Amino acid sequence: MPICTNCHHQWTRRELWKASLSLKPSMTCPHCGAEQYQTKRSRKKTSMLLAVIPVTMLLSMLVDWGWGSLVLYLFIVTDAIVVFYPKGVELTGEEEPLW
Ligand SMILES: [Zn+2]
Repeated sequence: MPICTNCHHQWTRRELWKASLSLKPSMTCPHCGAEQYQTKRSRKKTSMLLAVIPVTMLLSMLVDWGWGSLVLYLFIVTDAIVVFYPKGVELTGEEEPLW
């Protein structure tokens, strides 16, 4: 789980999801209020994880899986994202350029 670089508060899964679903590039620490950013390495890891869903949708157009298999696969992928996304997030106090 991510840890605030300002106050060393370990974020809960719920706090992380709530901050991640906003459109802001920063995440506000729920404990001290400091703006936190995902590290460059963390953004690359989590974006690769989140890219699984659109890639799966494109592959499903090429392979005739049937709706039942596709729904089951998306359910498994979504569960994997919910479990592994918080483990991949690392925070920093400074915004790092992606490139
Ligand atoms: Zn904090």
